[in-house]
Amino acid sequence: MAKLVVSKFGGTSMGDADCMLRSAEVSYRQGSSLVVVSATSGTTNDLIALGKTAETQSWPDAEKILTKIQERHLKIAGDLRLPADSVKLLETLFEEMSSLAKGIHLLKDCSVKALDTLVSLGERMSSLLFTQAMSQVLKKHNSEKTAELLDVRKVLRTDDSFGKAKPLTAEVAALAQKHLSFLREGQRVVCTQGYIGMTEEGNTTTLGRGGSDYSAAILAEGVSADVLEIWTDVAGIATTDPRLCPKAQPIREISFKEASELATFGAKILHPATLLPAIRKNIPVFVGSSFDAEARGTWVRKDVEDHPLIRAMALRKKQVLVTLSTPEMLYAHGFLFQIFKIFNDHKVSIDAITTSEISVSVTLDDSTLLNKKLIADLSQIADVQVEENLALISLIGNNINHTAGLGEKIFKAISDINVRMICLGASKHNFCFLVSDEQGPEAIRRLHSCFIEAGSEEMA
Ligand code: ADP
Ligand code: ASP
Ligand code: MG
Repeated sequence: MAKLVVSKFGGTSMGDADCMLRSAEVSYRQGSSLVVVSATSGTTNDLIALGKTAETQSWPDAEKILTKIQERHLKIAGDLRLPADSVKLLETLFEEMSSLAKGIHLLKDCSVKALDTLVSLGERMSSLLFTQAMSQVLKKHNSEKTAELLDVRKVLRTDDSFGKAKPLTAEVAALAQKHLSFLREGQRVVCTQGYIGMTEEGNTTTLGRGGSDYSAAILAEGVSADVLEIWTDVAGIATTDPRLCPKAQPIREISFKEASELATFGAKILHPATLLPAIRKNIPVFVGSSFDAEARGTWVRKDVEDHPLIRAMALRKKQVLVTLSTPEMLYAHGFLFQIFKIFNDHKVSIDAITTSEISVSVTLDDSTLLNKKLIADLSQIADVQVEENLALISLIGNNINHTAGLGEKIFKAISDINVRMICLGASKHNFCFLVSDEQGPEAIRRLHSCFIEAGSEEMA
């Protein structure tokens, strides 16, 4: 039986009609049965701006953004010679976008729930256009396969945490069985949306920014795919973000564990949760460039051949360090429990943590500070100190917590940069610490030069 391939294309791969046709060509060559697409480049940002502008500014200001989004999609529709029935569907989506923005403007209220429905239009418009591109490519190759559009909300069931909804794995599997069991026959290429889902009650949700990777992985798990492909604007996962360090090198193969750490600790190339479904079902993941499909790209697998001490490094900006201190922690038990309970009640996840006798420091995304109630609740049980403008640097590799001299080598490379907090020991795949946001990129470049460019073999 043919392999079941799920492919995901990000925003830049949907940039214009040529990008869509190029991505469709890649899907054709890879034999993809399910293609998951992001909104066209910049559209999610524009839709968020539309919601905020409609809420707080004049209607003509909001209308300008509406027009810009519509024109971008009409241009692609024209270039792809979208058939009349699909043009009608696109116009219906434009009408929905305009009505939602108008509603937000009249109410002067852009709730996360309303915003989720508004931003869902990005993926709903791009997938409609991409289906046409896919159709054209199949015809060009005289393929017997047909391209069809699926509203992913029929399958991607989530909870109701609007803005950051959690997919419900068992429900998705059952719905995939109901709506997509024909995929293995290999006769139809289903084109659908990343990033969005639907609650049991029929409300549209989103999985959080960059969530299309995660959607594709959840769907790959739901249909028991053989391979998940993530096509983006770089030829695979590199040793660090190439935008940060021009000497970043492509990684041919990386383990699930290392790649998960890399994604969790800030490498934008993969949404942090992407690999969870792939790990659960042991589905190998390929990351490649839709602009250069011949380039080798990266395979993410359970087992890999080499296990370097330092494989890659990531930088996560805009971190805050929250330190909670109270003398009551001395010789007492239950303090950590109380802290974690408060974070849990607010659904806030902690990234790194260190403790002393009377204090606990945790790192969080700076957006967490907008949650005034969280800080107020924490203040009930401890003194709360907040330090902002920090960056979390993570070195990812193998056997990190059992290698003598590694710490010395790291801190020597950045000896003139102040380190605010260090986390080592919990994972053999990760060593992370905080520096100032300003010095983060320089720290990465120095560590990259020391461990990757010079080679880390002598430490291993
Ligand atoms: P897409 O729209 O296709 O989802 P993203 O912009 O979300 O693409 O992710 C791709 C970007 O991730 C790259 O352009 C690159 O700048 C960035 N990136 C961050 N860390 C890495 C890394 N380790 N390797 C490759 N790219 C990385
Ligand atoms: N379009 C969404 C975003 O820009 C999801 C994605 O591209 O993965 O965040
Ligand atoms: Mg992305």
